[in-house]
Amino acid sequence: MRLARFLYEGVVKTGVVLDDSVSVLSSGSLEDCMGLSASEVKAKCSGVKVSLHAVKLLSPVNPSKIICLGWNYLEHIKELKHEVPEKPMVFLKPPSAVIGHKDDVILPNPKLSKEVNNEVELAVIIGRQARNVPKEKAYDFVLGYTICQDITARDIQLQLRQKNEQWDIAKAFDTFAPLGPWVATTSGIKNPHSLRISLKVNGKFRQDSNTKYMIFKIPEVIEYLSSVMTLLPGDVISTGTPKGVDLIKEGDLLQAEIEKIGVLENKVVK
Ligand code: MG
Repeated sequence: MRLARFLYEGVVKTGVVLDDSVSVLSSGSLEDCMGLSASEVKAKCSGVKVSLHAVKLLSPVNPSKIICLGWNYLEHIKELKHEVPEKPMVFLKPPSAVIGHKDDVILPNPKLSKEVNNEVELAVIIGRQARNVPKEKAYDFVLGYTICQDITARDIQLQLRQKNEQWDIAKAFDTFAPLGPWVATTSGIKNPHSLRISLKVNGKFRQDSNTKYMIFKIPEVIEYLSSVMTLLPGDVISTGTPKGVDLIKEGDLLQAEIEKIGVLENKVVK
């Protein structure tokens, strides 16, 4: 099941995507569909069905926080010459960085950063409040999955890293967290650790890997994070990027794709 949040005739709606159309839900957020079967979700639909082309997709959730993992794919660790972490390496992106499918990634003022990079990632969407969740129960708290681009001002990050200073700011610019195009629920993705994950820049593959190569898997990540902070419905855990991070520039078209989820498309502008 694919659940989307979108603008239709000027109003924010949620709905179930099927092929080229969306069945509009009567009310509520996508997180309200947590734990419901397909027929129960269908019963929440208003009966209105619209073409996917007639709506503007929005970020599927409004997260209270976006928790990102760094260094979670070995090949990416090698390309940036880092060490393999002993525990999940965690940083936060602000909710103000979130944009949706087909929204523009805006490059920072070149006085601040001249080197912005792509990072395609599988994003976990939390469906119910989670605190101190053992890994065996972790998936009970997951609504589904979407695609995140952890856009990064690499020059800022590297400069701060060299000085042993915090570098979250390199990840925090407005528009640096494209999310979407929708949430593919757990019912359709039994194993999130066997999905092809890729990114095309201007039609050419730049990243192409598989989520099976993640070092820290989703259940242990949820166990760890929920031992520190309460995860709220709609929160996003972005699980790290595979290798192939590189410069993005004005005019680039980013097409991030994850098997069984879809394609998240964003243009880069100044
Ligand atoms: Mg990342």
